[in-house]
Order: sequence, then C-alpha cells, then structure tokens
Amino acid sequence: MNIKENKEQIFSDVAKAALGAHRTVDDITIIAVTKYVDVDTARKVIDTGVLHIAENRVDKFLEKYQALKDSKVKWHLIGTLQRRKVKDVINLVDYFHALDSLKLAQEIDKRAEHPIKCFLQVNVSGEPSKHGFNPNDLDEVLPRLANYSNLRIIGLMTMAPIDADEKELDLLFEKTHQLQLQLKAKQLPNMPFSDLSMGMSRDYASAIHHGSTFVRIGTSFFK
Ligand SMILES: *Cc1c(COP(=O)(O)O)cnc(C)c1O
Repeated sequence: MNIKENKEQIFSDVAKAALGAHRTVDDITIIAVTKYVDVDTARKVIDTGVLHIAENRVDKFLEKYQALKDSKVKWHLIGTLQRRKVKDVINLVDYFHALDSLKLAQEIDKRAEHPIKCFLQVNVSGEPSKHGFNPNDLDEVLPRLANYSNLRIIGLMTMAPIDADEKELDLLFEKTHQLQLQLKAKQLPNMPFSDLSMGMSRDYASAIHHGSTFVRIGTSFFK
C-alpha cells in the first residue's frame, strides 16, 4: 500500500473528472474514509495533504478524532447515527452526512451547541435496505426540519446500489442532482442545499459528472 501514490492518483482522477464535466476542481472536496485503517495509517493520509477525514461509526470516529484532532483536518461522520449516540459525537463533527429521520434531527438539535452542517440522506434508488428519506416525502419533511435551528442543511447525500451499472449510476446521480437544484432554488432559511455528497471509490467519476461536491473515498486510498 503506497498511500502517497494512491492519493496522487485519486486527486488527478478527480481533476480529470471535473475537467470532463466542465467544472472547477476547487468545487470538489475529497474526503478520505479511514474506516478500514488504524490511527497511524490515517495520519499518513493526512501527512500527504488530505484535509478531510471521515468515519462511518461513532466509536471509530472518536478514536481517530482523539488521536488526530490537533491536525488541520475537517471531520466528517458519514454513517448511520443512532439517537442515543448523538450526544457523544455531534459537537465534534464538522459535517454529518447521514441525516435520515426527523427523530434524529430533533435529537441533534437538542444536543448541538452550535449549528451543525448536515446532509439529508436520500434513498433515490428505492432499495429497501438503504437508509434515507424518500424524495417524495421531502415536501412534508422540510417544514418540520425548519423547526430545528441548530441544523444547517447544506445538501443531499446518497449512495448508489453496490451492483449498479453505468446507466443506473447516471440515472440515480442525475436524479439526486436535479432534486438538490430544486431544493436549493427554494431558498429555505438554514437550508442552502448548496452541496451534494455522492461518489465512492467505484463511482466517483460518475458522481462528479453529475454535480457532486463531496466525494467519500476509502478503498482507493488504502489498496
Ligand atoms: C465506506 C464508505 C464510503 C467509502 O467507500 P469506498 O468504496 O471504500 O470508497 C463512502 N461512504 C460511506 C457512507 C461509507 O460507509
């Protein structure tokens, strides 16, 4: 595993994808997902100049955060968050990507000591196993989220099915992009919907093509 080479490959692939989509690379944040590796390996990633680190579980997040919090990185929690764990972690994260229920929003609002940047997770593919709001429910959900002033809804997050082919990825990512643009146009208070968290190791080029601004990449850093 050569982390520096992997990092350079990923950054150059992201730049290429941005160019291909007629976008500027500065609009795309590359997040290294360190859930597969220990603290020392995560530190090596940071030493290559990666500025955004993510974990998908609270216990692992806290372990990395405690060891590495003095670095200049921004901290992302990207996985499902149980309500009872909100108080342990929410004030440490810079971005939370998996807001998937009103009850979770209520708990975050209650425990947050400052506005928390959140992505609404949407289940655009309709897979029953996936977390996230059904896009059809958002008209009902948004006015209720507006009650929670400690949440700042900066965008949408989605995950493609593991077996999706290119055509399905195009469809899902474009659907999510269009939804994000519709919500952004509403200009709701505290809900800028300016960002899109989509794309993982196997599909980030496609996600960037469809407007992603945060890509969450694990495997490709650590192979
Ligand atoms: C693990 C994980 C990723 C990274 O996936 P890779 O395929 O390893 O790049 C991205 N997002 C979430 C929510 C994850 O749990």
